[in-house]
Amino acid sequence: MRKTKIICTLGPATENLAEELIEYGMDAARVNFSHETYEIHAERIRNLKQARKKYDKPVPIIMDTRGPEIRTGKMKEEVWLQQGQQFILTAQEVVGDKNQVHINPPHLIKKLQPGTDIFIDDGKIKLSIKEAVNDRLICQVETGGYLSDKKGVNIPGLNFGIPCITETDRKDIEFALNLGIDYVAVSFVKNSGEINKLKKFLKSRDHSDVKVIAKIENREAVQNIDHIIEAADGLMVARGDLGVELPLSEVPGIQKKIIRKCNQLGKPVITATQMLESMNKNSIPTRAEASDVANAVYDGTDVVMLSGETAAGQYPIKSLQTLVDILLKTEQEIDYEKEYYNKDWGDFEKEVVNIIGKTATTAAYEISARAITVSTKSGNTARMIARFRPDTPIIAVTIDPRITRQLNLSWGVFPVEAEFVSELESLLSKLIECTQATSLVDQGDPVVIIAGIPTGLTGKTNMLKIHNMGDPIVNSSET
Ligand code: PEP
Repeated sequence: MRKTKIICTLGPATENLAEELIEYGMDAARVNFSHETYEIHAERIRNLKQARKKYDKPVPIIMDTRGPEIRTGKMKEEVWLQQGQQFILTAQEVVGDKNQVHINPPHLIKKLQPGTDIFIDDGKIKLSIKEAVNDRLICQVETGGYLSDKKGVNIPGLNFGIPCITETDRKDIEFALNLGIDYVAVSFVKNSGEINKLKKFLKSRDHSDVKVIAKIENREAVQNIDHIIEAADGLMVARGDLGVELPLSEVPGIQKKIIRKCNQLGKPVITATQMLESMNKNSIPTRAEASDVANAVYDGTDVVMLSGETAAGQYPIKSLQTLVDILLKTEQEIDYEKEYYNKDWGDFEKEVVNIIGKTATTAAYEISARAITVSTKSGNTARMIARFRPDTPIIAVTIDPRITRQLNLSWGVFPVEAEFVSELESLLSKLIECTQATSLVDQGDPVVIIAGIPTGLTGKTNMLKIHNMGDPIVNSSET
């Protein structure tokens, strides 16, 4: 079983492909509210839900917020901006051309001074402000490039006083909650307070069951990383904006640091953007891209994400297949058992759930178990086992469909939904039945079973059983 999970971004290139994406290995679907209309998002989510039902796969839906973004306006046509030419950013709502383009939010213009650098379209175009005249910024093109409609703008270090969840985002989130999303990925987070505020907002809408992923894409977030990891349910290393807001040379080191910190706490971490960028146009990736994907796996990422490759590229399914191949091959190269025994676990918190997670991993290696099956109400025990990176699939049995879907984003976890049973022997039978149904084990295979007594409570995992598939749970002479 592949352990590293895959997010595919839905977009124009994936229309009618929801089933194929699931068939070829998409573990979670991302809808990006920076683009498109509510109608289009609703239609995509509807299709995705139908497909996941047909394939009986718990594919979660991640709603990605627009955030306090800055964008250029509409263009008459795509133009080439030549290095050295003058180019104007204006607050007026003009249709752009070779000489000028509208910038949104327009009030931003008043905050910018000559000498400031402005990056457009993930840094492909660089402008330098030469003069500010009323509602216009007269710029010089420092790095030339093609400019088309509504491109993202970065102004590193600028704090233009808008919270990361804007009014528009609140409306978008409410809309998405009604469609049944499982995660909100928050763009341009700066600190843990913003995550806590969003969680309060979700609670006020009766949706504290929707989890929050913090997208790390600017300097402030990197500086506040420890508190953000603590507050969020997962992180995304959003390398697109991160690589413009910060010098590109810092991004690989930051990626490794964030992954390491998330792994330590058992929080799912996503490595995102330009994983297979050249596959937007080509049917094979570059060697560097293949190595980048593999290195994210070696770093310990839980998830890798496809963005434009699936949303707007020419080879969405081929990109997914390529990613699956690289992940599987890389995982085969890693000796997880050796890494587990070589790692100094000295500083991990001695909470019962962690001790159970570590003991389950040791037991699985010692008896060459084919699965670790865990009964988990909140999903936390499964994540705390995944933290130790057992080479054995973690079959997480939950009673809540949303938690089942959310667990599909955790490294090495195979989530299964089952109905609640309260009595211990029935619970053990249910866990074994669910393990059998995955087809990951055969009769006679040893498995490690993790549960909590009393049953049905959260935070009460306290039991480990070693079981051979096919053996009875109760003494048959007693029945
Ligand atoms: C990123 O910047 O890398 C990212 C994932 O965010 P977005 O796609 O919203 O730019």
